[in-house]
Amino acid sequence: MTERLILPRRTLLVLCGATGSGKSTFAAQRFPATSIVSSDRCRGMVCDDENEQAFNRDAFDLFYYILRKRMHNGFFSVADSTALKPAAREELRKISRSYGYYGCLLILVTPPEICLQRDRQRARQVGESVIRYHDGLLPQVLEDAPKEGWERVRIVREEERDIEIVIES
Ligand code: GDP
Ligand code: MG
Repeated sequence: MTERLILPRRTLLVLCGATGSGKSTFAAQRFPATSIVSSDRCRGMVCDDENEQAFNRDAFDLFYYILRKRMHNGFFSVADSTALKPAAREELRKISRSYGYYGCLLILVTPPEICLQRDRQRARQVGESVIRYHDGLLPQVLEDAPKEGWERVRIVREEERDIEIVIES
């Protein structure tokens, strides 16, 4: 049976997972494109290369700025970034709280071999070392997430990708 996750309209849905874990695909299958704010796309907008980490500062300024504007206006928002580092999650939690938003952390757990396989099929590849590094951060994320003050933490494993997300009207 397909599981349902019901969320208030004023929710910041924070995706978390390695590159290639399927975050952007998961979001695109469920939510309007305008509701999804992607750190990769923000990076592309500030420097023409979605993978160029040297422009992270500007990319994330833009990422948080757009999310803040959406929350200021009361819209459901998806933060599409890896969010694997505690500081990244803390910032998103802090922003969502400042707008009185429900913070839902959705962690996509995907075996690194699958992330790698998917990365190889991409036009712009991040490579094995990045994916192994991301995968290495996951155990700590799973340990820390319940203590970070999220209203909801949901782990979605590979076999649970048919989960339905319903936004309350
Ligand atoms: P992200 O880096 O976490 O945002 O991962 P993406 O959503 O961009 O997915 C990486 C690649 O894997 C893309 O080429 C997707 O088409 C593919 N992909 C993502 N999710 C799935 C899935 O559930 N099944 C299959 N077969 N491919 C997927
Ligand atoms: Mg993505």
